[in-house]
Amino acid sequence: MKLSVIGTGYVGLVSASCFADLGHEVIGVDCDRDRIRLLQEGKVPFYEPGLQEVLQRAQSCGRLRFTIDTAEAVRNSEVIFITVGTPPRDNGDADLSAVTAATEAIASAMTGYRLIVEKSTVPVGTGERMRGQIQLVTRGTAPFDVACNPEFLREGSAVHDFLHPDRVVLGVASERSEKVLRELYRPFDCPIVVTDLATAELIKHASNAFLALKISYINAVANICERVGADVRQVADAMGYDRRIGRGYLDAGVGYGGSCLPKDVAAFVKIAREAGYEFRLLEEVARINEEQREVLLRHLRDALGVLSDRTVAVLGLAYKPNTDDVRAAPALAFIERLRREGAIVRAYDPAAEANASKLLPDIIYCPDPYEAARDSDAVVLLTEWEELRVLDLSRLREVMRRPILIDGRNCFDPSAARALGYHYAGMGR
Ligand code: NAD
Repeated sequence: MKLSVIGTGYVGLVSASCFADLGHEVIGVDCDRDRIRLLQEGKVPFYEPGLQEVLQRAQSCGRLRFTIDTAEAVRNSEVIFITVGTPPRDNGDADLSAVTAATEAIASAMTGYRLIVEKSTVPVGTGERMRGQIQLVTRGTAPFDVACNPEFLREGSAVHDFLHPDRVVLGVASERSEKVLRELYRPFDCPIVVTDLATAELIKHASNAFLALKISYINAVANICERVGADVRQVADAMGYDRRIGRGYLDAGVGYGGSCLPKDVAAFVKIAREAGYEFRLLEEVARINEEQREVLLRHLRDALGVLSDRTVAVLGLAYKPNTDDVRAAPALAFIERLRREGAIVRAYDPAAEANASKLLPDIIYCPDPYEAARDSDAVVLLTEWEELRVLDLSRLREVMRRPILIDGRNCFDPSAARALGYHYAGMGR
C-alpha cells in the first residue's frame, strides 16, 4: 500500500518506519525542515531504542522517504495518517491546530479517493469535524473517508509496542475504509476492534485516563502505607497477582508525567464537561498526581531541614526510562521547586540532558551519576533507568557530603541502603 504519515515525532516516525519495514511504500512528512533533513540522512532526531535500525532498513530498501511537501505526499498515497502533536492548552483542552493544519493541507491536495486516518490522540468528535473541513475544501471533487486508529505505543519500547500491540482499534465510517485498514493490519497478531469514529476516539482517552487512575490510586495507597508502616510495593505485588487488577501501572512514585497522561487526563475532563458530565474522579486523579511532588519534597525537607544552599543531586530527568522526552516530566517540576527554595542542583540523565537543558539551562549537568552525587547533601532518584537501578550505593555514598537517599521510584532496597549508612526514604514504604 502507498501510505503517508504526517508528523514524524515519536508516534509518526515509528509508524512510518514500521509500516515501511512491513513492506508498504511510505512517505514521512513534517513541517520541521531540520527534522526532515536529519531523517533524509537516516538519523533519528530523538532517542528511541531500536528505531534507528528499522528506519535505516526501510530507507535502504527504498520504501521510506521523507519530505516537507504534504501536497506531494498526498498525491502519491492512498492512505494518509495524521500523527501531529495535540499538546494541552492552558485550560486543559487539546490544541488541535496542528491537526486542523494537516487536514487542510491534505484536503487541498486530494485528487482521487483518499483515506485520512487520525492517529493523534484527539477529543471525541474531531473525526467528524475533519470530515466537514475536508468537504468544505474539496466540495465533492474527491471522494474520501476519515477513520480513527488511536496509537497505544509507549516511548522507550515504541517499536516493539507498535508491532505487537495488545489490540488495534479501527474507528471507521464506511466498509471501504474498514477493508483498507484491516488489510494494513493483517500481519498483526492481536484483536482488531472495529468501531465507529466517536467510539475509537473515546477508547484512547478512556484507556490513558484509566492508566493515570491506576498510578494515582497506588500513590494514594502509598501515602496510607507511609502513615501506618506498611510497604506499598508488597501491596502492589499482591494486588497485581489478581488478574482482575493486574500489576501494570501500580508502581508508587513521584507520579506520572510525559506528553500523554497529564494532557489526556485534562482533555478527558474537558470532553466530559462539554458532554454535560463532571468527571470528578479524574480531577482527583490529577490532583493526587500533583501532590506526589510535595511528598517527595517533604521527604527531602525531613532529611535536610532547609533546602537553601543545599546541594541536591537529581538522578533521572526524562519522564520515564528509555526516552529523552522531558515533556511534563516530574523531575523538571521538582527541580524548579528545589531552585525556588535556593538549592543547588546537580543532575544526570543517560539521554535527556539535551532536552532538559533547553528548559533548565542553569543547573549543573554531570556526565555520570557519581559525578552528580559528588559533594551533594542528598541524592534524589526520579527516573528508574536500568543503569540507575543498579547504582553502586557504596561508591555513591563515598562521594556524597551527606548520605541522604530519596528514592522517588522505589528502586532500591531500603534495608540494604540503610545498612550502608544512608538515611533512606522511598515512596510508601
Ligand atoms: P511529537 O511532538 O513528538 O511529534 C509531532 C510532529 O508533528 C513534530 O515533528 C511536528 O513538527 C510535526 N507537525 C506538527 N504540525 C505539523 C503539520 N501541520 N504538518 C506536518 N508536521 C507537523 O508528538 P508525538 O509524541 O509523536 O505525539 C503525536 C500524537 O500521538 C499526539 O496526539 C499524542 O498524544 C499521540 N500519542 C503519543 C504517544 C507517545 O508516547 N508520544 C503515544 C500514543 C499517542
